[in-house]
Parts: sequence; C-alpha cells; structure tokens
Amino acid sequence: MPARKSSAKKTSAKKANVKKTAVKKTAKKSAGATGSFADHHLKSRLWDRVDPDLKNRIGRLRANGRLTERALKIAKELKKEFPDATCALHHENPLQLLVATILSAQCTDERVNMVTPALFKKYPTAVDFASSPKGELEKDIKSTGFFNSKAKSVRETCRDIHERFGGKVPEAMDELLTLRGVARKTANVVRTNCFGYPGLTVDTHFKRITNLLKLTSNSDPEKIEADLANLLPPENWSHFSHSIILHGRKTCKARKPLCGECGLVKLCPSAFAHEK
Ligand code: SF4
Repeated sequence: MPARKSSAKKTSAKKANVKKTAVKKTAKKSAGATGSFADHHLKSRLWDRVDPDLKNRIGRLRANGRLTERALKIAKELKKEFPDATCALHHENPLQLLVATILSAQCTDERVNMVTPALFKKYPTAVDFASSPKGELEKDIKSTGFFNSKAKSVRETCRDIHERFGGKVPEAMDELLTLRGVARKTANVVRTNCFGYPGLTVDTHFKRITNLLKLTSNSDPEKIEADLANLLPPENWSHFSHSIILHGRKTCKARKPLCGECGLVKLCPSAFAHEK
C-alpha cells in the first residue's frame, strides 16, 4: 500500500509539472517575442484606449516583420539610454499642460518652464485665460515668441473649454480636436501625460529622426503617427515619443547628427550619411 501511495504521489506531481510547463508555454506564446504575459494583457488594455481614428488608419497599413523588429530594438535602445524620459513641460493639471504645449511651439521647453509658474498663478482656470485683457496675456508670454498668435490660441482654446466643456479639458481625441488651437500633437501630449492614453507625439524631432531611421517615409505627421503606431505596441508609444525628442537634442541633432556617439548606429540606415 505505501508503495502504491508514493507512485500515485509521483504521478500527480508529474501531472502538475506538465500543467505548469503548458501554462508557461501558453503565456510565452501569448506574450509574443517582446514581453511577459502581464505585458500582453497590458498591451490589450492599452489597445482599447487607442483613439478609434488612429485604429482605423493603422488597420489600413500592412505589417512588416523586419521593420517591426528593428523598431522594437530601437525602442529598447532608447529605453536603455533614457530610462526616465518623460514630459519636460512642468504642469499640475491638463489645462496647464495644454497651455504649456501651445506656448512650446518654436520655443524651448526650458523657456516655457520659466514663464509658466507665474502664468498659472495669474490665470488658474480656463475662464481666467479666456477673459484676459487684450495685451496682458501677450505681455505675460512674450518671451516664448510668436506671442500674438499664441495668446490668441490660448484664449480661444480656453473659451471653448469654458463654454463647451464646463471648464474641464476633455479626454476624447475627437473632442480635443474641436478646440481651436489644438491639433493632434497637442491633443496626444495632453491625453498621454494627463489621462494615461497611449499616444505618439509627432514633433519636428520625431518627424526628422523616424525618417532618418527609415521607420517611415512620410512627412505628414498623421501618416507618421500611424506608421509608428503600426510598428510599436501601445505601451511603447509614450516613452518612445519622449525619448526620441531627447535623442534629437542630445545626439541626432538637426544640423549635424553625432552618429559616432549614437547608440542606434547599428540600427540606423542613415548612419554617417551626412558625412558622405
Ligand atoms: S546613427 Fe546618426 S542619423 Fe542615425 S539616429 Fe544616430 S545620430 Fe541620427
């Protein structure tokens, strides 16, 4: 009897091991080559939060295995180089980030960060910005450049937020895009950094570097956004956007890319092209 008992024990242990291996295998398969089982679920959850228009545009694109693999390697390298890459514009709420993003056009983030503390103290709500006297807001944001058109954009955007959204910045992409002064890049900045949606923010660095990396051949920001969204899983989008901007400032400079110092050199078809 005891011998029988121990053999039954062994059999059930064997069964349990087989079961464990099967679960592991399924998890690995589901996660794909690039992440854990938990990552896979995270991916699915984030995918549900991708804005429907972008989903439609991605749906029309073809998948390219090699390009996807290279894009993932690039994203991994950028993660290594800039592990903490995040939004450089100081803000405490969606309205502040929206205004700071409008001010950051043709201006450095550092300059915007110098202006915004006093600005946000003076104009704490959307209606404060919307009703600011002509000339006053212009003076407050003068050092960020193009202050007349930026003041107009801030006023109009804040008027819309006050009149149509009860003073609260909307979360939905289609609603954000109805705000005068808000284009897709600004909407993605706010959605990603304040509301946790996956988003790619295509600015001039993003456009230039993704073209150099041959991850896209488009110059239209919306097409670039869809191309990259087709290559990278949503959980990579936010970090990729922040880090590619940092990479553009530090290494892949517009005037002279520093390919000799670039961590992406082996993955970049344009490496040293400017020297030829
Ligand atoms: S290798 Fe040169 S061109 Fe390519 S990403 Fe790096 S710095 Fe830019």
